[in-house]
Amino acid sequence: LQVKSIVNKTMKFKCFVVKKVSGSEESILIEINPRKKSLPVCSVCGEKRSHYDTLSPRRWRHVNLWGIETFIVYSPRRVKCPACGIRVERIPWSMGKSRLSLPLISVLQTLARHISWDGVARLYGVCWNTVRAAVQASVEYGLANRQIEGVVYIGVDEIARRKGHRYVTNIYDLTDKRLLATAPGRDELSLYKCFQEIGKSLMSKPLVICCDMWKPYLKTIREDLHPDTVVVLDRFHIVRNLLAAVDEVRREEYHDKKKSNPGLLKRTRYLWLKNPENLKLAEKQRLSELEKLNLKASRAYLLKESLRELWEYKNKNQAVRFLDKWFWWATHSRLKPMRNLAWSLKKHEEKILNWFDHPVNNGLAEGLNGKAKAVMRRAYGYRTFDTLRLALLHNLGNLPEPNYSTHRFL
Ligand SMILES: [Zn+2]
Repeated sequence: LQVKSIVNKTMKFKCFVVKKVSGSEESILIEINPRKKSLPVCSVCGEKRSHYDTLSPRRWRHVNLWGIETFIVYSPRRVKCPACGIRVERIPWSMGKSRLSLPLISVLQTLARHISWDGVARLYGVCWNTVRAAVQASVEYGLANRQIEGVVYIGVDEIARRKGHRYVTNIYDLTDKRLLATAPGRDELSLYKCFQEIGKSLMSKPLVICCDMWKPYLKTIREDLHPDTVVVLDRFHIVRNLLAAVDEVRREEYHDKKKSNPGLLKRTRYLWLKNPENLKLAEKQRLSELEKLNLKASRAYLLKESLRELWEYKNKNQAVRFLDKWFWWATHSRLKPMRNLAWSLKKHEEKILNWFDHPVNNGLAEGLNGKAKAVMRRAYGYRTFDTLRLALLHNLGNLPEPNYSTHRFL
């Protein structure tokens, strides 16, 4: 069995043949020729066209053979296409301007889903930039070939990129559980850029968008998307705001009572914040004792627990009445953090109640956000936003992958 015939078997192309395999233990060259009498295919329209001229030889880095750097060498032909003009032919192992062969792109980008890019580079004996190029080629193909026309339910969420409050804004397809786009920051422009990236087609039809009551996002949705777009305030974000308000009440009360009764509210933070069904027995007992004392924290706690019931209502009219009552209760609670939160919820009442027409939430996006954080942790090398974006789309975009040949190299 010759190396040449192995190469031939793993790179079966109708119109190309392996002319020669040469090299040493340092590098292997696979020279390829067009099959005799085969016409080149126009890379733009995909039709067979007449041969115009031949360019000088080009090299593609290919999948290593026995750990030896391997290259494909081929002189691309140009076609004279009546529809597209003078064009380079379509080359089945090549993608765009990448200097990596499609099988290599596929191998590297697959490995990069499981280990860090540094790890892939070291294990595979390529440089970090090569891994990045492979991921980039794969992501670009995926973005150009994904189906997004049917997307209706979109989740918007932000993640802190690192300490010091640098954020990225992500938008998710809540139906197909995938990241659609990502942009730096968390202002109006961030969200606008996300939508621009996925194309005008989605911006010009009514969507259902689940998000936080973050003003810049709401402004972009109002001003730049279809006027019939429905916003559903994410219940997880609302509950998170509730928890923050309860905690503020507890903290203030703790400081007020520190002198007179130092032990009273000590180490109670999680008692008030956890869902009661998750408390241990001893914690439950402590909580019910505290509840008898008519503390501010306890009143805030009851308001929080009560609002969580909102999403249990089956019927929107009942929910409207419930929310009205809750609002009255919260604004008369004499607890400033709860009152403030109640007023801001009141302002967005309609968006909260939209949930009863479109029961979507960002729980799924939160899960994806957790994955996104893991991707970011794995990659201390993502110094620039562009690289981070590639890594996020690569791992969470659920993108279609290029189909290169019948042989699986991995
Ligand atoms: Zn053409």
